[in-house]
Amino acid sequence: MSADLTKFAELGLAPALLKAIADTGYTTPTPIQAKAIPLVLDGGDLLAAAQTGTGKTAGFTLPLLQRLTELHQDRPKPGKPRCLILTPTRELAAQIAESVKTYGTHLPLKSFVVFGGVNINPQRMALRKPVDILIATPGRLLDLVGQNIVNLSQIDILVLDEADRMLDMGFIHDIKKVLKMLPKQRQSLLFSATFSNDIRKLAHGLLNQPGEVSVTPRNTASELVDQTVHLVDKSRKRALLSKLIKQHDWFQVLVFTKTKHGANRLAEQLGKDGIESMAIHGNKSQAARTKALARFKDGSLQVLVATDIAARGIDIEHLPNVVNYELPHVSEDYVHRIGRTGRAGSEGQAVSLVNIDELKLLKGIEKLIGRSIPKVEIEGFTGHTETLGTTVEKRKPRPSRNRNRSSKNGAGNGGAPKGASGKGRAPRQRKAS
Ligand code: AMP
Repeated sequence: MSADLTKFAELGLAPALLKAIADTGYTTPTPIQAKAIPLVLDGGDLLAAAQTGTGKTAGFTLPLLQRLTELHQDRPKPGKPRCLILTPTRELAAQIAESVKTYGTHLPLKSFVVFGGVNINPQRMALRKPVDILIATPGRLLDLVGQNIVNLSQIDILVLDEADRMLDMGFIHDIKKVLKMLPKQRQSLLFSATFSNDIRKLAHGLLNQPGEVSVTPRNTASELVDQTVHLVDKSRKRALLSKLIKQHDWFQVLVFTKTKHGANRLAEQLGKDGIESMAIHGNKSQAARTKALARFKDGSLQVLVATDIAARGIDIEHLPNVVNYELPHVSEDYVHRIGRTGRAGSEGQAVSLVNIDELKLLKGIEKLIGRSIPKVEIEGFTGHTETLGTTVEKRKPRPSRNRNRSSKNGAGNGGAPKGASGKGRAPRQRKAS
Protein backbone atom coordinates (compact mmCIF):
# COMPACT_ATOMS: atom_id res chain seq x y z
CA MET A 1 0.00 0.00 0.00
CA SER A 2 1.62 3.21 -1.04
CA ALA A 3 -0.90 5.70 0.31
CA ASP A 4 -1.14 6.39 4.01
CA LEU A 5 -4.43 4.81 4.96
CA THR A 6 -4.08 5.24 8.70
CA LYS A 7 -7.33 7.15 8.90
CA PHE A 8 -9.25 4.36 7.19
CA ALA A 9 -7.48 1.75 9.30
CA GLU A 10 -8.46 3.65 12.46
CA LEU A 11 -12.11 3.18 11.54
CA GLY A 12 -11.61 -0.55 12.01
CA LEU A 13 -11.53 -1.71 8.39
CA ALA A 14 -9.81 -4.99 7.60
CA PRO A 15 -6.63 -5.23 5.47
CA ALA A 16 -8.47 -6.63 2.42
CA LEU A 17 -10.64 -3.51 2.35
CA LEU A 18 -7.74 -1.16 3.00
CA LYS A 19 -6.02 -2.70 0.03
CA ALA A 20 -9.05 -2.04 -2.16
CA ILE A 21 -9.22 1.54 -0.88
CA ALA A 22 -5.56 1.98 -1.74
CA ASP A 23 -6.35 0.81 -5.29
CA THR A 24 -8.97 3.55 -5.64
CA GLY A 25 -6.53 6.23 -4.53
CA TYR A 26 -8.66 7.57 -1.65
CA THR A 27 -6.54 8.73 1.25
CA THR A 28 -9.00 10.15 3.75
CA PRO A 29 -12.47 9.02 4.75
CA THR A 30 -15.21 11.50 3.91
CA PRO A 31 -17.24 12.73 6.92
CA ILE A 32 -20.07 10.28 6.28
CA GLN A 33 -17.56 7.43 6.06
CA ALA A 34 -15.79 8.50 9.24
CA LYS A 35 -19.09 8.51 11.10
CA ALA A 36 -20.94 5.59 9.53
CA ILE A 37 -18.22 2.96 9.15
CA PRO A 38 -17.53 2.35 12.88
CA LEU A 39 -21.27 2.29 13.61
CA VAL A 40 -22.00 -0.28 10.93
CA LEU A 41 -18.98 -2.40 11.85
CA ASP A 42 -20.38 -2.47 15.37
CA GLY A 43 -23.50 -4.14 14.05
CA GLY A 44 -25.91 -1.32 14.86
CA ASP A 45 -28.74 0.05 12.74
CA LEU A 46 -28.10 3.36 11.05
CA LEU A 47 -30.16 6.35 9.99
CA ALA A 48 -28.04 8.55 7.78
CA ALA A 49 -28.69 11.91 6.19
CA ALA A 50 -26.41 12.05 3.22
CA GLN A 51 -26.66 13.02 -0.41
CA THR A 52 -24.99 11.54 -3.43
CA GLY A 53 -21.51 12.93 -3.66
CA THR A 54 -20.71 12.61 0.02
CA GLY A 55 -19.07 9.21 -0.37
CA LYS A 56 -22.05 7.47 1.21
CA THR A 57 -21.82 4.42 -1.04
CA ALA A 58 -18.41 3.52 0.35
CA GLY A 59 -19.80 4.55 3.75
CA PHE A 60 -22.13 1.57 3.77
CA THR A 61 -20.43 -0.77 1.31
CA LEU A 62 -17.06 -1.01 3.05
CA PRO A 63 -18.39 -1.96 6.48
CA LEU A 64 -21.09 -4.27 5.16
CA LEU A 65 -18.51 -6.21 3.16
CA GLN A 66 -16.53 -6.64 6.33
CA ARG A 67 -19.59 -7.64 8.37
CA LEU A 68 -20.58 -10.25 5.81
CA THR A 69 -17.07 -11.65 5.89
CA GLU A 70 -17.12 -11.80 9.68
CA LEU A 71 -20.69 -12.97 10.25
CA HIS A 72 -20.25 -16.47 8.93
CA GLN A 73 -18.22 -18.06 6.28
CA ASP A 74 -20.87 -20.43 4.87
CA ARG A 75 -21.22 -20.34 1.18
CA PRO A 76 -24.37 -18.44 0.25
CA LYS A 77 -27.17 -20.35 -1.41
CA PRO A 78 -28.53 -19.69 -4.89
CA GLY A 79 -31.20 -17.01 -4.82
CA LYS A 80 -30.77 -16.47 -1.07
CA PRO A 81 -28.67 -13.34 -0.60
CA ARG A 82 -27.32 -12.33 2.80
CA CYS A 83 -27.38 -8.66 2.05
CA LEU A 84 -29.97 -6.64 0.14
CA ILE A 85 -29.31 -3.13 -1.11
CA LEU A 86 -32.48 -1.45 -2.35
CA THR A 87 -32.18 1.64 -4.47
CA PRO A 88 -34.63 3.66 -6.60
CA THR A 89 -33.08 3.68 -10.07
CA ARG A 90 -31.22 1.35 -12.36
CA GLU A 91 -28.38 3.88 -12.69
CA LEU A 92 -27.89 3.97 -8.94
CA ALA A 93 -28.19 0.21 -8.72
CA ALA A 94 -25.51 -0.22 -11.37
CA GLN A 95 -23.30 2.33 -9.67
CA ILE A 96 -23.59 0.64 -6.30
CA ALA A 97 -22.92 -2.75 -7.88
CA GLU A 98 -19.74 -1.29 -9.34
CA SER A 99 -18.69 0.01 -5.92
CA VAL A 100 -19.41 -3.34 -4.28
CA LYS A 101 -17.15 -5.01 -6.84
CA THR A 102 -14.43 -2.40 -6.43
CA TYR A 103 -14.31 -2.45 -2.64
CA GLY A 104 -14.86 -6.21 -2.43
CA THR A 105 -12.23 -7.12 -4.95
CA HIS A 106 -9.99 -8.83 -2.38
CA LEU A 107 -12.86 -10.66 -0.66
CA PRO A 108 -14.55 -13.89 -1.75
CA LEU A 109 -18.05 -12.38 -1.68
CA LYS A 110 -20.39 -12.61 -4.68
CA SER A 111 -22.68 -9.79 -5.69
CA PHE A 112 -25.33 -9.32 -8.33
CA VAL A 113 -27.51 -6.46 -9.51
CA VAL A 114 -31.10 -6.60 -10.76
CA PHE A 115 -33.28 -3.81 -12.10
CA GLY A 116 -36.30 -3.39 -14.33
CA GLY A 117 -36.49 -2.24 -17.92
CA VAL A 118 -34.36 -5.11 -19.16
CA ASN A 119 -35.07 -8.75 -19.91
CA ILE A 120 -35.58 -10.67 -16.68
CA ASN A 121 -34.28 -14.00 -18.01
CA PRO A 122 -30.55 -13.36 -17.77
CA GLN A 123 -31.16 -12.24 -14.17
CA ARG A 124 -33.09 -15.44 -13.46
CA MET A 125 -30.23 -17.50 -14.88
CA ALA A 126 -27.57 -15.63 -12.95
CA LEU A 127 -29.44 -16.03 -9.66
CA ARG A 128 -29.10 -19.79 -9.92
CA LYS A 129 -25.61 -19.23 -8.65
CA PRO A 130 -24.92 -18.35 -5.01
CA VAL A 131 -25.04 -14.63 -4.22
CA ASP A 132 -24.03 -12.80 -1.02
CA ILE A 133 -25.07 -9.29 -1.94
CA LEU A 134 -28.06 -8.44 -4.10
CA ILE A 135 -28.46 -4.88 -5.32
CA ALA A 136 -31.96 -4.24 -6.62
CA THR A 137 -34.66 -1.81 -7.57
CA PRO A 138 -37.91 -2.65 -5.72
CA GLY A 139 -40.17 -3.61 -8.64
CA ARG A 140 -37.80 -6.08 -10.27
CA LEU A 141 -36.88 -7.56 -6.90
CA LEU A 142 -40.55 -8.31 -6.20
CA ASP A 143 -40.95 -9.86 -9.65
CA LEU A 144 -38.05 -12.19 -8.93
CA VAL A 145 -39.40 -13.00 -5.49
CA GLY A 146 -42.81 -13.69 -7.05
CA GLN A 147 -41.19 -16.15 -9.43
CA ASN A 148 -39.39 -17.88 -6.55
CA ILE A 149 -36.04 -16.92 -7.98
CA VAL A 150 -35.11 -14.81 -4.99
CA ASN A 151 -35.79 -15.63 -1.37
CA LEU A 152 -35.18 -12.99 1.29
CA SER A 153 -35.25 -15.23 4.36
CA GLN A 154 -31.47 -15.21 4.82
CA ILE A 155 -30.92 -11.47 4.81
CA ASP A 156 -28.47 -10.33 7.50
CA ILE A 157 -28.09 -6.77 6.30
CA LEU A 158 -30.57 -4.46 4.57
CA VAL A 159 -29.64 -1.13 3.02
CA LEU A 160 -32.24 1.35 1.80
CA ASP A 161 -30.37 3.87 -0.28
CA GLU A 162 -31.90 7.19 -1.33
CA ALA A 163 -35.02 6.32 0.61
CA ASP A 164 -36.54 9.73 -0.02
CA ARG A 165 -36.36 9.21 -3.74
CA MET A 166 -37.85 5.76 -3.42
CA LEU A 167 -40.85 7.26 -1.63
CA ASP A 168 -41.08 10.07 -4.20
CA MET A 169 -41.15 7.46 -6.93
CA GLY A 170 -44.03 5.66 -5.26
CA PHE A 171 -42.15 2.60 -4.02
CA ILE A 172 -43.53 2.67 -0.50
CA HIS A 173 -45.85 -0.32 -0.98
CA ASP A 174 -43.11 -2.33 -2.65
CA ILE A 175 -40.75 -1.51 0.20
CA LYS A 176 -43.31 -2.57 2.77
CA LYS A 177 -43.82 -5.86 0.96
CA VAL A 178 -40.08 -6.47 0.92
CA LEU A 179 -39.74 -5.63 4.61
CA LYS A 180 -42.32 -8.26 5.53
CA MET A 181 -40.19 -10.94 3.90
CA LEU A 182 -37.04 -10.14 5.83
CA PRO A 183 -35.95 -11.87 9.02
CA LYS A 184 -36.60 -9.80 12.15
CA GLN A 185 -33.05 -10.34 13.28
CA ARG A 186 -30.99 -8.24 10.92
CA GLN A 187 -29.00 -5.05 10.58
CA SER A 188 -30.70 -2.22 8.72
CA LEU A 189 -29.24 0.95 7.26
CA LEU A 190 -31.32 3.77 5.84
CA PHE A 191 -29.86 6.59 3.76
CA SER A 192 -31.85 9.61 2.73
CA ALA A 193 -31.01 13.14 1.61
CA THR A 194 -34.04 14.60 3.32
CA PHE A 195 -36.10 13.63 6.35
CA SER A 196 -39.77 14.08 5.73
CA ASN A 197 -42.35 12.71 8.12
CA ASP A 198 -42.85 9.77 5.77
CA ILE A 199 -39.16 8.90 5.95
CA ARG A 200 -39.21 9.17 9.73
CA LYS A 201 -42.23 6.89 9.84
CA LEU A 202 -40.52 4.39 7.57
CA ALA A 203 -37.34 4.57 9.63
CA HIS A 204 -39.28 4.07 12.84
CA GLY A 205 -40.82 0.83 11.61
CA LEU A 206 -37.60 -0.41 10.11
CA LEU A 207 -34.72 0.48 12.39
CA ASN A 208 -33.90 -0.65 15.86
CA GLN A 209 -32.32 2.04 18.05
CA PRO A 210 -30.36 3.39 15.12
CA GLY A 211 -27.24 5.48 15.32
CA GLU A 212 -27.91 8.73 13.52
CA VAL A 213 -25.38 10.47 11.34
CA SER A 214 -25.79 13.52 9.21
CA VAL A 215 -23.45 15.20 6.82
CA THR A 216 -25.79 17.94 5.74
CA PRO A 217 -26.12 19.89 8.94
CA ARG A 218 -28.36 22.66 7.80
CA ASN A 219 -27.33 25.46 10.01
CA THR A 220 -23.84 24.54 11.07
CA ALA A 221 -22.32 25.36 7.72
CA SER A 222 -24.18 28.58 7.41
CA GLU A 223 -23.05 29.68 10.86
CA LEU A 224 -19.38 28.93 10.34
CA VAL A 225 -19.05 30.42 6.92
CA ASP A 226 -18.61 34.11 6.38
CA GLN A 227 -21.30 34.94 3.85
CA THR A 228 -21.70 37.99 1.72
CA VAL A 229 -24.05 39.03 -1.02
CA HIS A 230 -23.05 41.54 -3.68
CA LEU A 231 -26.06 42.90 -5.53
CA VAL A 232 -24.99 43.42 -9.08
CA ASP A 233 -26.35 43.63 -12.59
CA LYS A 234 -26.26 40.33 -14.40
CA SER A 235 -24.11 41.82 -17.15
CA ARG A 236 -21.47 42.94 -14.63
CA LYS A 237 -21.11 39.73 -12.67
CA ARG A 238 -18.10 38.50 -14.53
CA ALA A 239 -16.24 41.79 -14.16
CA LEU A 240 -17.03 41.84 -10.45
CA LEU A 241 -15.88 38.28 -9.98
CA SER A 242 -12.58 39.02 -11.71
CA LYS A 243 -12.14 42.09 -9.57
CA LEU A 244 -12.79 40.22 -6.33
CA ILE A 245 -10.46 37.37 -7.23
CA LYS A 246 -7.64 39.73 -8.15
CA GLN A 247 -8.21 42.20 -5.37
CA HIS A 248 -8.16 39.59 -2.63
CA ASP A 249 -5.78 37.31 -4.48
CA TRP A 250 -8.12 34.40 -3.87
CA PHE A 251 -6.86 30.94 -4.63
CA GLN A 252 -8.82 27.69 -4.87
CA VAL A 253 -12.03 29.46 -5.71
CA LEU A 254 -14.93 27.14 -6.43
CA VAL A 255 -17.47 29.03 -8.54
CA PHE A 256 -20.98 27.71 -9.06
CA THR A 257 -23.05 28.35 -12.14
CA LYS A 258 -26.52 27.06 -12.95
CA THR A 259 -25.76 25.61 -16.34
CA LYS A 260 -23.01 23.67 -18.07
CA HIS A 261 -22.94 26.24 -20.83
CA GLY A 262 -22.65 29.04 -18.29
CA ALA A 263 -19.75 27.23 -16.60
CA ASN A 264 -17.85 26.93 -19.88
CA ARG A 265 -18.44 30.52 -20.82
CA LEU A 266 -17.41 31.86 -17.45
CA ALA A 267 -14.21 29.80 -17.35
CA GLU A 268 -13.33 31.14 -20.77
CA GLN A 269 -14.07 34.74 -19.82
CA LEU A 270 -12.06 34.53 -16.63
CA GLY A 271 -9.19 33.20 -18.70
CA LYS A 272 -9.40 36.31 -20.85
CA ASP A 273 -9.16 38.37 -17.66
CA GLY A 274 -5.89 36.63 -16.84
CA ILE A 275 -7.37 34.27 -14.24
CA GLU A 276 -6.66 30.63 -14.86
CA SER A 277 -9.84 28.63 -14.62
CA MET A 278 -11.44 25.45 -15.87
CA ALA A 279 -15.02 24.22 -15.94
CA ILE A 280 -16.31 20.85 -14.88
CA HIS A 281 -19.74 19.52 -15.63
CA GLY A 282 -21.55 16.49 -16.93
CA ASN A 283 -20.63 17.06 -20.56
CA LYS A 284 -16.91 16.95 -19.86
CA SER A 285 -15.12 13.65 -20.19
CA GLN A 286 -14.04 11.90 -17.01
CA ALA A 287 -10.42 12.48 -18.01
CA ALA A 288 -10.99 16.22 -18.37
CA ARG A 289 -12.75 16.37 -15.02
CA THR A 290 -10.05 14.40 -13.27
CA LYS A 291 -7.37 16.64 -14.71
CA ALA A 292 -9.16 19.84 -13.69
CA LEU A 293 -9.76 18.50 -10.19
CA ALA A 294 -6.17 17.38 -9.72
CA ARG A 295 -4.90 20.81 -10.72
CA PHE A 296 -7.43 22.54 -8.51
CA LYS A 297 -6.43 20.37 -5.57
CA ASP A 298 -2.70 20.90 -5.93
CA GLY A 299 -3.22 24.65 -6.15
CA SER A 300 -2.01 25.12 -9.71
CA LEU A 301 -5.50 26.00 -10.96
CA GLN A 302 -6.89 29.11 -9.34
CA VAL A 303 -10.56 28.80 -10.22
CA LEU A 304 -12.82 25.84 -10.81
CA VAL A 305 -16.23 26.59 -12.27
CA ALA A 306 -18.79 23.88 -11.62
CA THR A 307 -22.45 23.07 -11.80
CA ASP A 308 -24.10 21.66 -8.68
CA ILE A 309 -24.19 18.14 -10.03
CA ALA A 310 -20.55 18.11 -11.11
CA ALA A 311 -19.51 19.58 -7.78
CA ARG A 312 -21.03 16.62 -5.94
CA GLY A 313 -18.15 14.48 -7.11
CA ILE A 314 -15.59 16.89 -5.73
CA ASP A 315 -14.11 15.52 -2.56
CA ILE A 316 -12.42 18.71 -1.44
CA GLU A 317 -13.48 20.39 1.73
CA HIS A 318 -12.23 23.36 3.65
CA LEU A 319 -12.05 25.44 0.53
CA PRO A 320 -11.17 29.03 1.33
CA ASN A 321 -13.59 30.54 -1.18
CA VAL A 322 -16.89 29.52 -2.68
CA VAL A 323 -18.65 31.86 -5.08
CA ASN A 324 -22.25 31.59 -6.14
CA TYR A 325 -22.05 33.19 -9.54
CA GLU A 326 -25.72 32.34 -9.83
CA LEU A 327 -27.93 31.30 -6.97
CA PRO A 328 -29.25 27.75 -7.06
CA HIS A 329 -32.94 27.14 -7.63
CA VAL A 330 -33.15 24.84 -4.65
CA SER A 331 -32.29 26.63 -1.42
CA GLU A 332 -30.75 23.52 0.12
CA ASP A 333 -28.16 23.52 -2.65
CA TYR A 334 -26.92 26.87 -1.34
CA VAL A 335 -26.20 25.23 2.01
CA HIS A 336 -24.42 22.35 0.29
CA ARG A 337 -22.39 24.71 -1.82
CA ILE A 338 -21.20 26.88 1.02
CA GLY A 339 -20.75 23.79 3.20
CA ARG A 340 -17.60 23.13 1.20
CA THR A 341 -15.90 25.95 3.00
CA GLY A 342 -15.42 26.73 6.66
CA ARG A 343 -15.93 23.24 8.04
CA ALA A 344 -14.92 22.26 11.54
CA GLY A 345 -14.15 25.74 12.69
CA SER A 346 -11.86 26.57 9.81
CA GLU A 347 -12.73 29.91 8.32
CA GLY A 348 -14.15 30.14 4.88
CA GLN A 349 -16.07 32.62 2.89
CA ALA A 350 -18.95 32.34 0.53
CA VAL A 351 -19.76 35.18 -1.80
CA SER A 352 -22.95 35.35 -3.82
CA LEU A 353 -23.37 37.59 -6.83
CA VAL A 354 -27.07 38.33 -6.97
CA ASN A 355 -28.95 40.17 -9.66
CA ILE A 356 -32.48 41.48 -9.50
CA ASP A 357 -34.04 38.34 -10.95
CA GLU A 358 -32.54 36.26 -8.18
CA LEU A 359 -33.94 38.16 -5.22
CA LYS A 360 -36.71 35.67 -4.70
CA LEU A 361 -34.16 32.85 -4.56
CA LEU A 362 -32.13 34.89 -2.08
CA LYS A 363 -35.19 35.32 0.15
CA GLY A 364 -35.79 31.58 0.06
CA ILE A 365 -32.19 30.90 1.06
CA GLU A 366 -32.29 33.41 3.90
CA LYS A 367 -35.49 31.82 5.14
CA LEU A 368 -33.89 28.39 5.08
CA ILE A 369 -30.75 29.43 6.97
CA GLY A 370 -32.79 31.57 9.31
CA ARG A 371 -30.95 34.80 8.83
CA SER A 372 -30.25 37.61 6.47
CA ILE A 373 -26.99 37.53 4.54
CA PRO A 374 -25.09 40.84 4.66
CA LYS A 375 -25.28 42.79 1.41
CA VAL A 376 -22.03 44.53 0.64
CA GLU A 377 -21.76 47.12 -2.06
CA ILE A 378 -18.68 47.33 -4.24
CA GLU A 379 -17.96 50.63 -5.90
CA GLY A 380 -18.71 50.55 -9.58
CA PHE A 381 -20.96 47.52 -9.24
CA THR A 382 -23.91 48.90 -7.39
CA GLY A 383 -26.50 47.20 -9.55
CA HIS A 384 -30.08 47.83 -8.56
CA THR A 385 -29.46 48.32 -4.89
CA GLU A 386 -31.61 51.45 -4.63
CA THR A 387 -34.63 49.74 -6.07
CA LEU A 388 -34.19 46.61 -4.06
CA GLY A 389 -34.98 48.04 -0.66
CA THR A 390 -32.24 45.93 0.85
CA THR A 391 -29.84 47.05 3.51
CA VAL A 392 -26.33 47.32 2.25
CA GLU A 393 -23.78 46.98 4.98
CA LYS A 394 -20.66 48.92 5.47
CA ARG A 395 -17.84 46.50 5.61
CA LYS A 396 -14.13 46.60 5.29
CA PRO A 397 -12.80 44.22 2.68
CA ARG A 398 -11.60 41.06 4.34
CA PRO A 399 -7.87 40.53 4.49
CA SER A 400 -6.56 38.34 1.75
CA ARG A 401 -6.60 34.64 2.42
CA ASN A 402 -3.78 34.17 0.09
CA ARG A 403 -1.37 31.52 1.12
CA ASN A 404 2.13 31.91 -0.21
CA ARG A 405 1.46 30.78 -3.66
CA SER A 406 4.25 29.58 -5.80
CA SER A 407 5.72 31.81 -8.42
CA LYS A 408 4.02 29.85 -11.16
CA ASN A 409 0.66 31.10 -9.96
CA GLY A 410 1.90 34.55 -9.26
CA ALA A 411 3.36 34.71 -12.70
CA GLY A 412 0.07 33.56 -14.16
CA ASN A 413 -1.74 36.57 -12.83
CA GLY A 414 1.02 39.07 -12.59
CA GLY A 415 0.43 40.47 -15.99
CA ALA A 416 -3.32 40.42 -15.75
CA PRO A 417 -4.99 43.50 -17.10
CA LYS A 418 -6.43 45.72 -14.46
CA GLY A 419 -9.58 46.28 -16.45
CA ALA A 420 -12.70 46.38 -14.34
CA SER A 421 -10.84 45.63 -11.16
CA GLY A 422 -9.68 49.23 -10.92
CA LYS A 423 -7.59 50.17 -7.98
CA GLY A 424 -10.10 50.78 -5.23
CA ARG A 425 -9.11 48.48 -2.41
CA ALA A 426 -11.41 50.26 0.00
CA PRO A 427 -14.71 50.47 -1.80
CA ARG A 428 -16.93 53.35 -0.94
CA GLN A 429 -19.89 51.96 0.89
CA ARG A 430 -23.05 53.50 2.09
CA LYS A 431 -26.29 52.57 3.67
CA ALA A 432 -29.26 52.25 1.44
CA SER A 433 -32.60 53.01 2.96
P1 AMP B 1 -21.16 8.73 -3.49
O1 AMP B 1 -21.63 9.82 -2.57
O2 AMP B 1 -21.12 7.44 -2.82
O3 AMP B 1 -21.93 8.74 -4.76
O4 AMP B 1 -19.62 9.05 -3.86
C1 AMP B 1 -19.24 10.20 -4.55
C2 AMP B 1 -17.86 10.09 -5.16
O5 AMP B 1 -16.85 10.18 -4.15
C3 AMP B 1 -17.58 8.80 -5.89
O6 AMP B 1 -17.04 9.14 -7.14
C4 AMP B 1 -16.55 8.08 -5.05
O7 AMP B 1 -15.67 7.34 -5.84
C5 AMP B 1 -15.84 9.21 -4.35
N1 AMP B 1 -15.31 8.85 -3.02
C6 AMP B 1 -15.89 8.07 -2.09
N2 AMP B 1 -15.14 8.00 -0.98
C7 AMP B 1 -14.07 8.78 -1.19
C8 AMP B 1 -12.93 9.14 -0.39
N3 AMP B 1 -12.77 8.71 0.86
N4 AMP B 1 -12.01 9.96 -0.93
C9 AMP B 1 -12.18 10.43 -2.19
N5 AMP B 1 -13.22 10.15 -2.99
C10 AMP B 1 -14.18 9.34 -2.51
